[in-house]
Amino acid sequence: MDATKDSATAQAAGLLAQLDMDKLAQLAQRIDLPALLNAASQMNEGQLKQLARTLSPASKERDLPAPHGDFYGLMDMLSERQREIAARVRHFMETEVAPIMNEYWSRDEFPRQLIPKMRELNLMREIWNDDGTRTPDASVTEGIIIMEMCRVDVSTAVFFGVHAGLALASVALGGDERQRAELLPPMLDLDVIGAFGLTEPEGGSQVSQGLRTTARRDGDSWILNGEKKWIGNSTFSDITVIWARDEADQQVKGFVVRAGTPGFEVEKIQGKVALRIVENGHIRLQNCRVPESDRLQQATSFRTTADVLRLTRAGVAWQGVGCAMGAYELALSYAQTREQFGKKIGAFQLIQNHLVHMLGNVTAMQMLCLRLSQMEDAGTMRDQHAALAKVFTAARCRETVALARESFGGNGILLEYGVAKHFCDTEAIYSYEGTNEINTLVVGRAITGLSAFV
Ligand SMILES: Cc1cc2nc3c(=O)[nH]c(=O)nc-3n(C[C@H](O)[C@H](O)[C@H](O)COP(=O)(O)OP(=O)(O)OC[C@H]3O[C@@H](n4cnc5c(N)ncnc54)[C@H](O)[C@@H]3O)c2cc1C
Repeated sequence: MDATKDSATAQAAGLLAQLDMDKLAQLAQRIDLPALLNAASQMNEGQLKQLARTLSPASKERDLPAPHGDFYGLMDMLSERQREIAARVRHFMETEVAPIMNEYWSRDEFPRQLIPKMRELNLMREIWNDDGTRTPDASVTEGIIIMEMCRVDVSTAVFFGVHAGLALASVALGGDERQRAELLPPMLDLDVIGAFGLTEPEGGSQVSQGLRTTARRDGDSWILNGEKKWIGNSTFSDITVIWARDEADQQVKGFVVRAGTPGFEVEKIQGKVALRIVENGHIRLQNCRVPESDRLQQATSFRTTADVLRLTRAGVAWQGVGCAMGAYELALSYAQTREQFGKKIGAFQLIQNHLVHMLGNVTAMQMLCLRLSQMEDAGTMRDQHAALAKVFTAARCRETVALARESFGGNGILLEYGVAKHFCDTEAIYSYEGTNEINTLVVGRAITGLSAFV
């Protein structure tokens, strides 16, 4: 007997051993059993194996696809290097962040021990060069990093985005050669952690016009006064970029305020129901003296602030992609294991409808953001392109995480099942870096030529 026959015989013997003879007799009364056996005897090796798999009680579990939210092969559209970076980030998120994130969520605290581990990942230099220029494919690469982070935990991506995006870009775009040479290498190595202080208690969406924090020149230094709200990382950052209005010319300028500077106080914002792992600070500046050498020399008007925000907006759109992708994968996995009425809930049509709706959203978001980032890397992206992506992904993410949470029933509101965190975090994505209303107005103005801003 050859090896092929051996294998088929062993499988057939295994199947026969499992047969219940009473049930077989019942079956023989309803179907032509000899004809069926005759048909089976004509089967080739592949068909026999398939039959064995189908009849095996464990087959349903074994044949289920691994949950994954990359239905159209986003990864296949990336370079080898970008795929390697994505794998590196995924491994870090699953082995270092996932095991501790619920504990830190409950404690309302950022796990600072992750910083040296993130340093080993060396992600900054995949996006930035030491001189403050961007790598040729920075936007796509950064987007993939953010997506992979948010798939597990949005807060980790916000820590990364505030430091590697907002703070680093402020120095890169607003600093002169000396400032870039001093600050960028340690920021790229995560030896110096940055924060970005623009929003104020009374100035959110209207901050470009209503910024109240003041800067007054006094000899070789500046005196800053005012308040900043929501400033991510600022409770432990080494530097915080503070945007303040120069009393003399009324222009908005950027200042690097170092931790411990007298007159610079940070209070951690408590009681958030989203992004609880991010530490957001309420900053009070009272006669805070900053040397002229720490005024960002190229940031002489709000135009630089807007340039920084433009550079980071695509990244926020990618946050929505990752958050929705993570929620979808959790829901798919749950649907394949949770049983009700004697069936996997994934076998119910209504649950499949949820899953397909989610997957459609995730896939559309991925393709939209990939194209947006390709445009950014090519230098053709405009404000309205990034604004549309932010509007679309934040809204689709909100819809997706709600369907995912719903698919978990009551377990969907328990932290341990994961989806609740995505559900809550989406609310922050929806509102920062330009609320959905403001980004909608940006797109509306671009497509109609008519401004609806008040
Ligand atoms: C978790 C988190 C992290 C953050 N991190 C930072 C950070 O690190 N640094 C920083 O500087 N800021 C940060 N922010 C601030 C964030 O950018 C602001 O929350 C955002 O710009 C919105 O401002 P606001 O919250 O004051 O809302 P408001 O501007 O008060 O808006 C309230 C509502 O009114 C709507 N609205 C306002 N104006 C208009 C209009 N003209 N037309 C139609 N609707 C309008 C808004 O869309 C919104 O729905 C963060 C915020 C959050 C929640």
